[in-house]
Amino acid sequence: MTEPVCGVCGAPAKPAFRAPQPEIAPDLDMRPGEPARSTLRDWIQLCPRCGAAAPDLAALPAAARAVVESDDYRILGTSVLEETLPFRRWALICERTGDRAQQAEALLQAAWAADDAAAMTEPARLRTEVAALWDSTLDVELGLRRLDVLRRAGQFDAADAWAAAMSARGPDELARTIIAFQRARIASRDIGRHLISAALPPPAHAPHVSHGKRATTGFWSRLLRK
Ligand SMILES: [Zn+2]
Repeated sequence: MTEPVCGVCGAPAKPAFRAPQPEIAPDLDMRPGEPARSTLRDWIQLCPRCGAAAPDLAALPAAARAVVESDDYRILGTSVLEETLPFRRWALICERTGDRAQQAEALLQAAWAADDAAAMTEPARLRTEVAALWDSTLDVELGLRRLDVLRRAGQFDAADAWAAAMSARGPDELARTIIAFQRARIASRDIGRHLISAALPPPAHAPHVSHGKRATTGFWSRLLRK
């Protein structure tokens, strides 16, 4: 097996970090529970030679070099909250290499890092960017995460409108339950963090619950089995 090297400069790179399996339910925006949750800062590797940032430096495409060498990339180093910097750098590489989905995940991770740093305005600003990137998704899972992102950004009108739009698409029972939970939180102007388990009806808290009557996607039914 060959040692991993940075895809931009060829310097030796650490293998991608593998977070431990979560034992606690995730937040409604799918930030994983502990013990994975507190490993957030390890999710992005930084190349000590060229400054590239990515979950897996060895997987960086050649096109990332121009981004890493750009002024925009360098300026991030002095213009953003330090705790969010690795995620912002990775997000910029994703943006410039056309990976909008990964860009959104990277910016949401930056928001989590800003949450952990108890930053005042940065978390809401980053979540607003994530919500914009997900603004036309028809995917139920992403749509539910977008709802949480909008609420936690304090964009209550937009969150309520998004909840109505999702409801109009005829979501399954589980999605309806989460939308109803979010609408109640929106109505009380709550921007706080909530676990998915808090939004689910009591039977879902039981381990190994049989949910044969629930029509869910694989993603959410995996959560319910936790
Ligand atoms: Zn490098």
